[in-house]
Amino acid sequence: MATDYDAPRKSEDDSESIEALKERVPSTQSGAGDVEDSDNPTGFELPGADLSDMELDVVVLPAQQDEFTCMSCFLVKHRSQLDHDGADGPICKECAA
Ligand SMILES: [Zn+2]
Repeated sequence: MATDYDAPRKSEDDSESIEALKERVPSTQSGAGDVEDSDNPTGFELPGADLSDMELDVVVLPAQQDEFTCMSCFLVKHRSQLDHDGADGPICKECAA
């Protein structure tokens, strides 16, 4: 008797909690997943993907707008360290000295 009563009750509880989860998950994602939706519908791997994207951006970008790449030492320097623009490109103060 006890087993008969317990089994259906358990499965009912399970289906109820699953349905409750199904109802809650979409509303939670619609709030937090706005930005993530364009890239990744699941939104689960995004924190990692975002980081690698940012790292890639830093590596790919040769210089920011207020920076330049010295054509002598090929280091990215701030504009304040620009000595002059040579024939091949900008030259930093260290190389011009
Ligand atoms: Zn230099």
